[in-house]
Amino acid sequence: MYPVYDTILLIYSKEEKKISTVKFRSDCLGLQGLEATRSRLPDGHVLYPTILSKIASAKAGIAGEDKVADVLLRNSFSIDHRIFHDLSLTTSTQFQMDTLFLSRLFAIILEVKNISGILEFRENPPQLIRIKTDGTVDGFECPAAQVERNAILFKEFLSQVGIDIPVIGAVVLAYPKQIVKVAPKRTKVLFPSIVPQHIKSLYHLPQKIDVQTLDSLTSQLLDSHQPYIPNPICETYGIPRNDIKKGVQCKICGWIGMQKIIRSWHCPSCKNYDHLAHRNAIKEWLLLFGRRISNRDCRDFLKINDMKTATRILQTTDLYSEGTFRNRTYSMDLNKYR
Ligand SMILES: [Zn+2]
Repeated sequence: MYPVYDTILLIYSKEEKKISTVKFRSDCLGLQGLEATRSRLPDGHVLYPTILSKIASAKAGIAGEDKVADVLLRNSFSIDHRIFHDLSLTTSTQFQMDTLFLSRLFAIILEVKNISGILEFRENPPQLIRIKTDGTVDGFECPAAQVERNAILFKEFLSQVGIDIPVIGAVVLAYPKQIVKVAPKRTKVLFPSIVPQHIKSLYHLPQKIDVQTLDSLTSQLLDSHQPYIPNPICETYGIPRNDIKKGVQCKICGWIGMQKIIRSWHCPSCKNYDHLAHRNAIKEWLLLFGRRISNRDCRDFLKINDMKTATRILQTTDLYSEGTFRNRTYSMDLNKYR
């Protein structure tokens, strides 16, 4: 059984032999939290531009990862392989891989970056320097060091399950406007279109595991995957709670402040009815403010007066409850509500 939030694609050859399994990227909760903040911050709020630029960079990051996913999907590989996009595992620490290409011969981890400008990979200390066209210089965490660290942690995962295959890391620059002036010494830097060629150049390596082991490893990886749940947005950006507009949002017209009527919600702006509109509001509360919502929080945010109505909403929203009557709080498996 795979977690409900992952899309898994099985690819078969003409002879009906399974040649690949692809796990696609889960929807990004970080982006959903930022979008909720954007729609609930008043116009002219001091943090509005920051949130907008975070949304833009999250979207560009996702587009870059999707570009790599697309290239891999459009190419055929003659060896048995499994592809995982956005895989989060825990060994000695939690780590996330943008793309993992797994075969019976080797594993390749791809770290996808979209930092535009002229790039210099520095070694000691590891750092990525970016020079913009206007001459501005910025420093970033080095993606080569990041992928090397991921390779070590993935090796650790493999050794825990008794598998020994070479693990190779590479950095993928999603867009051609990224110009590499100084490349890292040990790690390959690729553009998406070159990735298949690079994978094929490793076909000469010896086969290390049989196809049954590859399949059982695939199941173990999917079972071990724990999607990343970001910290509450208001905590991360220091946004006071009262700056956030309260109310249930209409998904048709975006109006915040749907009215509770018997067994449903009504939008005064577009006259839409939505009996499940509270679910997204509760999810937004959890992304904005914290992991646990109380009855009082629910009444306050959804703008309902009646405690019993709030209890019914919380009890029927498939939340986990904790504590006794007075102090009961509810949390949500955020991944189920992507
Ligand atoms: Zn509406």
